Amino acid sequence: MNKDNPNITIEDIINDVKHYLTDEEITKLKEAYKYASIVHKDQKRLSGDDYIKHPLNVVHILSKLNADSDTLIAGMLHDTISVGGIKASDIESRFGVDVASLVKGVTKINRLHYNGSNETTISNHRKILVGLTEDVRVIFIKLADRLHNMRTMYMLSDEKKKLNASETLEILTPIAHRLGINQIKSELEDLSLRYLKPDVYFSIVERLNKSKNERNKFVDEMMDNVSKLLNEHGIKHEIKGRAKSIYSIYKKLDKGKRFSDIYDLLALRVFVKDVSDCYQAMGLIHSKYRPVPKRFKDYIAMPKSNMYQSLHTTVFGPEGNFFEIQIRTYEMDEIAERGIASHWSYKEQGKNLMKGMEEKLQFFRSIMEIKESAEDIDTKMEELKDTVYVYTPKGDVIELPYGSTPIDFAYRVHSKVGDSMVGAIVNESIVPLDYVLQDNDVIKINTSNNSNGPSKSWLDIVYTSQAKNKIRSFFNKIDKKEYLKKGEEVLAKELRKKKISTSDLLTGDNLKKVLDDLHLANINDLYINVGSGKISINQVINTTCDNDKSKEETLLNKVMNTNVEKESKGDIIVDGIDDIKINVAKCCRPVPGDDIVGYIQTGIGINIHKSTCPNVSNVSERLINVRWNDDIEKRYATNIMVYTNTNKDLVLTIASITQSNNLSIKSMNTIKNDGKYTFEIKVAVNNLEKLKKYMNDIEALEEVTGVERIIR
Ligand code: MN
Repeated sequence: MNKDNPNITIEDIINDVKHYLTDEEITKLKEAYKYASIVHKDQKRLSGDDYIKHPLNVVHILSKLNADSDTLIAGMLHDTISVGGIKASDIESRFGVDVASLVKGVTKINRLHYNGSNETTISNHRKILVGLTEDVRVIFIKLADRLHNMRTMYMLSDEKKKLNASETLEILTPIAHRLGINQIKSELEDLSLRYLKPDVYFSIVERLNKSKNERNKFVDEMMDNVSKLLNEHGIKHEIKGRAKSIYSIYKKLDKGKRFSDIYDLLALRVFVKDVSDCYQAMGLIHSKYRPVPKRFKDYIAMPKSNMYQSLHTTVFGPEGNFFEIQIRTYEMDEIAERGIASHWSYKEQGKNLMKGMEEKLQFFRSIMEIKESAEDIDTKMEELKDTVYVYTPKGDVIELPYGSTPIDFAYRVHSKVGDSMVGAIVNESIVPLDYVLQDNDVIKINTSNNSNGPSKSWLDIVYTSQAKNKIRSFFNKIDKKEYLKKGEEVLAKELRKKKISTSDLLTGDNLKKVLDDLHLANINDLYINVGSGKISINQVINTTCDNDKSKEETLLNKVMNTNVEKESKGDIIVDGIDDIKINVAKCCRPVPGDDIVGYIQTGIGINIHKSTCPNVSNVSERLINVRWNDDIEKRYATNIMVYTNTNKDLVLTIASITQSNNLSIKSMNTIKNDGKYTFEIKVAVNNLEKLKKYMNDIEALEEVTGVERIIR
């Protein structure tokens, strides 16, 4: 890949992209350049270069991926908001809504500040970065941005360099890897190593240089031999010597290998026109050079999850040297280097890869899987690179990530197999369910029609999210049945208490009104929602009863303090992340002291729910850990319901209790039903303790039969 070029011009870039952009698109790109030049006019980079050189280089990097015109234009404008101080609306009016949303997306993820101290913050960070991104092209721009910044960060302090390098290695290169963008990933890794461990980096460079002449001699000789061999059999091809990345050598040394033992220091890559030539070439090479056992990998028949395809082998070459040889078609090479970005190169699939909805989903899924149960990020990342290939008793190959268990295997085969699984036999021996599958294992799953289904404890054993989801969905179905039963019972009981006849409320027009108002399809849905706590009994009753506006309520308005302060983001801590938009969920309205979780909402930020809120019970892959700050001064509003056995309006009494508790009411809804009052109060409180005391005080009133918090 090309190095940083401070003298790069817009003309150079136009030259690079004119073979695939239309004239109109080129004009627009030039306009973006002019605009960015004006915005960044008096700005300099730390290196002293004009600022505009940075976006120019970012676009240059993107052009090597054949990025579409919106991405190039957004790349040119990517710092105009954060550095140039321009409004997103200005970009939108000049360059359209698509470009503006890409620039906004980059600006948003660039605001996330990394201070990765432990694996939770790292996995949080990666999760948020991906979760916030609606459009995969934002990630491409982010990667290009980081690549150019890493190439030119020599002016920064050592500390800042190391922080950038570890962020790159822990957050960005795993994402680049999952997207298959080897071109960028590999350079980012080398640069990171250079700044994180300069001694190691330069010693590898030196050793490579020292052995260079000798290695070149061997490689040239081997290339000639292989080329001759293929020509004799009429296989059209090209061969290139392949430089091993410094980072990959480092990883092998780090695992305890000696420099001289690293097989693929002598490496060749053979390009041929189609798949059958790949296998033929491999056969010919193996017939002349003995392959090293267990080093042959067929990624053509079984591509890696990031779409990578190639044949890999290591052979004993002349003079006892090992050679690693990769054989692939030109198309496979394109995918190996550019991964998901290679779609841009295949015009027939449409220039805009985001139209491939499936790819997008795949991308999110695969990224999300990275962080799962990340105990030790290093070993995890290592394991992720590995896939195991295992067999069904019939000999069908199944690919699973390393770490998968027989249960993952069973669910991969079919959810019915998983749901009725009672045991597993691997290579003819019984294994425990948490056995970690190894390459070439032959797995037989024992099933039973009498099985009660999966056990909840399996959720801790399985490795793949596919298996987890299937186990969860099994329990959701069961839970539904239970909720249905519970909802029916609870509703009947509560209505009896309130002396409302079930046959009045839940038949005919009344039933229709209840279902319409609550947006439910039928009475079973109503029971399920009541049973799971998503809908409260009062919501059901309220739909058919008219609210009584009373004089007292007007009075109450005078004692009500309606200006509850807005939630401040400092009140809730997301480990390792500052500067992210945080909203408190309106459904369960947590207050300081409640157990809370964060839900990553695509393109928006993080919503804070009570951890028991049913609205987040089934979305674990989007949840992250959050906690309350210890010193919070703001008040948070939450909803409580007060049930009474009286026809006396308690508004003023409640108001005075509120006052003596030094709290404020945001709104109060009085519901009169069957002569009895119920009050729905939105109260602003400092913390859970105060809320509990307040609720106790109200409950102590003689007329009050119950006080509870509700989820709307
Ligand atoms: Mn930038």
